[in-house]
Amino acid sequence: MKQSMTLIPTLREVPADAEIKSHQLLLRAGFIRQNASGIYSYMPLARKVLQKVEAIVREEMERAGAVELLMPALTPAELWQESKRWYSYGPELMRMKDRHERDFVIGPTHEEVITSLVRDEVKSYKRLPLNLYQIQTKFRDEKRPRFGLLRGREFIMKDAYSFHASQESLDEAYQKMFTAYSNIFTRCGLNFRAVIADSGAMGGKDTHEFMVLSDVGEDTIAYSDSSSFAANIEMAPVVVEYQRSDEPHQELEKVKTEAQKTIEEVSSFLNVNQSNCIKSLLFKVDESFVLVLVRGDHEVNDIKVKNLLEATSVELASPEETRTIMNCSIGSLGPININSEVQVIADHAVKAVVNGVCGANEENYHYVGVNSDRDFSVNQYADLRFIQEGDPSPDGEGTILFARGIEVGHVFKLGTRYSEAMDATYLDENGRTQHMIMGCYGIGVSRTMAAVAEQFNDENGLMWPIALAPYEVHVIPINNKNDAQRELAEVLYSNLQDKGFEVLYDDRAERPGVKFADSDLIGIPVRITVGKRAEEGIVEVKVRLNGETLEVHTENLIETLR
Ligand code: ATP
Ligand code: MG
Ligand code: MG
Ligand code: MG
Repeated sequence: MKQSMTLIPTLREVPADAEIKSHQLLLRAGFIRQNASGIYSYMPLARKVLQKVEAIVREEMERAGAVELLMPALTPAELWQESKRWYSYGPELMRMKDRHERDFVIGPTHEEVITSLVRDEVKSYKRLPLNLYQIQTKFRDEKRPRFGLLRGREFIMKDAYSFHASQESLDEAYQKMFTAYSNIFTRCGLNFRAVIADSGAMGGKDTHEFMVLSDVGEDTIAYSDSSSFAANIEMAPVVVEYQRSDEPHQELEKVKTEAQKTIEEVSSFLNVNQSNCIKSLLFKVDESFVLVLVRGDHEVNDIKVKNLLEATSVELASPEETRTIMNCSIGSLGPININSEVQVIADHAVKAVVNGVCGANEENYHYVGVNSDRDFSVNQYADLRFIQEGDPSPDGEGTILFARGIEVGHVFKLGTRYSEAMDATYLDENGRTQHMIMGCYGIGVSRTMAAVAEQFNDENGLMWPIALAPYEVHVIPINNKNDAQRELAEVLYSNLQDKGFEVLYDDRAERPGVKFADSDLIGIPVRITVGKRAEEGIVEVKVRLNGETLEVHTENLIETLR
């Protein structure tokens, strides 16, 4: 591509509202332009990078047995009412009415659409398993769109959904998708970790997030310094114990007040879903009660809670019990481990139990054994957490460290959450009607591009890894009024293309300084400068990633590039 023919509007100044490197550089290098908060145009260079990410995603999806389709972005409200997410999703869901006043959702994710599709088309176990994916623009009215493409309101996602007749079949697909995700992010050159994405109280094997390690990440990961253990602390529960004490504990009144507010949700918790706030769940274990505060994705938590209730003898406390208990005092336990569902109940919940709850419903019964700084921060309720840096790793190997992460992918065993709500069934071998078992798997395609930009840059600009670079080679004649230079550059441009290289050719009548600055900013992996020695057939090859340069005769150029 000739640079004079494409649109790469580079900027010298750092745009005022761009706080982080990837956002600044993608704007400055002319990759993106903002149209409204969290809504961007992908300029020609960005489109190229996105296509490369998508190509990698497609290859790995097909290899994992997933097949591509494309569903509508505009989806009828009825589907969302069936799943109940119409009522629980909250303001992030983009809703609109058509001219007949019918409600629609502009899709943030597609469990509902795919479940209705498969429900109508698949009737027999013989057609299962089935794994379908799409690459599509998604819409979420994020509370705080920010960091450019990292948190947009319109963004590109790859979303896959698998359907199964058995748990083993789901486990197998999940494992394949997990491997595919690892391959994709490795091929993108990213430094990432797969982390446990759900709460310890609710199992650690059914959902993982793929986190790019980065200081600008909005998630915090707890990971072991000497094993593969890693978990998103967002999902980590805090267990709060009720105990009697005669000692008043002023600070904790605040916590109690907050807890009372959130506990209101318990009675209707399956319908409550407000992103990014804490949910309190009061469980009943035999005659005792355990309050679990869970933060993070309520959709995820609701499914896990439902599975937990099915798999164990634990019950949710009734609204009446909840009210009684919340009127009594709160004490706190230390951290609980990430563990299997049943074990958490056995090992920890029982320890967190209050015996004689009733008496605690009196004035001046207070907290015992609580160290507010150690157990949680009272200033910010949302900082309640269970794992701390320096703790021993729950798997017994090593010590816990914290890092920030950007969530680029998420794999999740849904179970029958949607197939039950929407009645997606099949006939098994014995002719019995069964609910399909599902998994879902998302990748933020545009977020991945931004994450790569965040990880690959220096003070001069972007530095694309070869697998994602918009072009592989940047050919720049220093002075294109000089016939020898211009002619050699044009020959190289066309020869390199013939040999299969993707080439950007700077044919603009700009000063060399401008061309070099733009070239560094855009970050194409290899730059070929055609200068004074053009007549001898000698050019300079420069590697963007490490700054290495060498003079090469054009006869040896292809060899050198390979
Ligand atoms: P987050 O925790 O960052 O809000 P999420 O958990 O809500 O993300 P999922 O529902 O798991 O996101 O969607 C699958 C993937 O889509 C995410 O892993 C992420 O890579 C991407 N994604 C989600 N929200 C956004 C957004 N607002 N902008 C860009 N990419 C996003
Ligand atoms: Mg979100
Ligand atoms: Mg998330
Ligand atoms: Mg997620």
